[in-house]
Amino acid sequence: MSPFVFWPALVLSLVLSVFLATTPKREVMWAAATVLAWTVPVALAWKRWVQRPAVWIARVATGAIFAMLVGVVQAWWPRTDVFIHYSNCAAPRAETFWPLVFTWACGLGLMTFTLWGSAFQWRQTLLPRVRTIAWWLVGLAWTAACAFVLSRNLAPGVLGTSLLALAKLGAAALAVAALIGLPLWWGTRGGRKAEAQTREDFAKLAPDERERLIDLIDTTARRGEYRLMYRPVAEGAAGDPIARVGGDPLSAPGETWPVDAAGHPALFLLQVPLEGTAHPVWRDRVLSVYLDEHEHALVVRCHARSDELQPMPAPPGPKLAPCAVMPLAIPPNEVPAGDDEGDGEWPDADWFFERMPELKAALGSATAHPDRLLGMLITGDTRGHAYIASDLIIVGGYPALIQGVHGATCPDCGQPMRFLMQFGDVTEDFALGDAGAGYVYGCDAHPQRLEAFSDCY
Ligand SMILES: [Zn+2]
Repeated sequence: MSPFVFWPALVLSLVLSVFLATTPKREVMWAAATVLAWTVPVALAWKRWVQRPAVWIARVATGAIFAMLVGVVQAWWPRTDVFIHYSNCAAPRAETFWPLVFTWACGLGLMTFTLWGSAFQWRQTLLPRVRTIAWWLVGLAWTAACAFVLSRNLAPGVLGTSLLALAKLGAAALAVAALIGLPLWWGTRGGRKAEAQTREDFAKLAPDERERLIDLIDTTARRGEYRLMYRPVAEGAAGDPIARVGGDPLSAPGETWPVDAAGHPALFLLQVPLEGTAHPVWRDRVLSVYLDEHEHALVVRCHARSDELQPMPAPPGPKLAPCAVMPLAIPPNEVPAGDDEGDGEWPDADWFFERMPELKAALGSATAHPDRLLGMLITGDTRGHAYIASDLIIVGGYPALIQGVHGATCPDCGQPMRFLMQFGDVTEDFALGDAGAGYVYGCDAHPQRLEAFSDCY
């Protein structure tokens, strides 16, 4: 921090203190304003020279503001015309009591922050602690004082004005909600109907019928070049022996669990074989992805596929519930012409139908909304909308990006790395931010060199 901020703030606080000291004082207000004036230079100095969290200064400041509110209520205390508005050219008129209610609520909030900082939790207010007792005493006294002022000043006219103001505010809020909500409801009506209809169509499909449709995608894709998508299996069905989400990762003999800088174990997210990649060096390798929650960074490891890989039990701590997945071959994606950044196409329903007209025809015989039915078939998720490719794992092809291009290069040879795998919110237990996605790249010549990125909107 530059001294050009600190010294003027200090001088300003001094001037303000002298000014406050010479005004006809109202004790509480005067003291609170003086304290408040000094929190600014103290906070600046604390930040500059102590460089530690300054929550206590914020608590002192909120305490001072609370004291000023106490001063306001103290001034109202002896009066019986707090809610009467006097003017020179009209008769006195009743105002609302909402400013008092607002003052009371603000006071409670400020007082709570002063006593607890940001650590306040409702269940703490029942524990027998000095701080809890102080909170209850101050809170009750404050509430009683505000209630006293209210009861002394509450006339029928004031009550009427206040209720009228509340009704007006409520009507305005309703009108705004209706203005926004109705068109939204109307606009999404078609989508909701289509979704409900598709869900019915999906429920009517027998399990072997669903399998047949999935197989149609797989066999059609395997006729040419393909990459692999990993999708959750139906409940009760067996998953891929290696690919997995959550649970325990397969590891090489002697391998240790990855930890963050503070020694906390990373969270195991998923493991997939890299068969879907175009370069043979990857095809017999297995990729494991962990999350270093402290750095919010992905930790990736790659093993040669062998019989020696054994499940490694996770250390105690949070763990993702295991979820079985199965590979599904899908056609390779392309980078749209004119895009030299390497942002590949997302495999949405239209993308599938363009490459597999027979799939669209087969789905079309079961539903009027083949795009939505495809989504339910692939993800197994019938609550949703159409098709969220971003929630699945895709190995091979080009990355479908949600943010800028990653431009990973190998630290050993300087060559651009190959895109290996991407994944989204693969389990309900866990999200990489708001609809986030993880991307892993590796060097064909140095397959131990991997780089991972986690992006979100
Ligand atoms: Zn390399």
